[in-house]
Amino acid sequence: MGLTTIRVKTHERTEFVNITQQVKKSVHSEKVERGLCTVYCPHTTAAITINEAADPAVQRDILMELNKVVPLNDGYTHMEGNSAAHIKASVIGESVTVPIENGSLVLGTWQGIFFCEFDGGRNRSVHIHIIRDQV
Ligand code: ZN
Repeated sequence: MGLTTIRVKTHERTEFVNITQQVKKSVHSEKVERGLCTVYCPHTTAAITINEAADPAVQRDILMELNKVVPLNDGYTHMEGNSAAHIKASVIGESVTVPIENGSLVLGTWQGIFFCEFDGGRNRSVHIHIIRDQV
């Protein structure tokens, strides 16, 4: 029990990577009947979200609009030059928490868990923390 770390390799500057199967795998290996699974991103220019996994156009549209709302260059003062990525990471958020019931993640039919890269490509980590309900 506790913390598992998975690795995510990204290729594009902004990209959604579906990590649902990796998260499911670590939930199953913990053999938790009922509890909570937190998926946490330890990076300042990436995020975690849950959204539709069936049609990849949804992920493309979210990225397209985020890129419009937070332009790559907009007179930012951060010296590293990646402020757009920091802002998008804060807008989306660093974690999601999903209930576990009967040993499985309780996700809606169309939902998937996505690692959101905003300053790629890079080698990234995602932490998965599972809490078992006291029965
Ligand atoms: Zn930076």
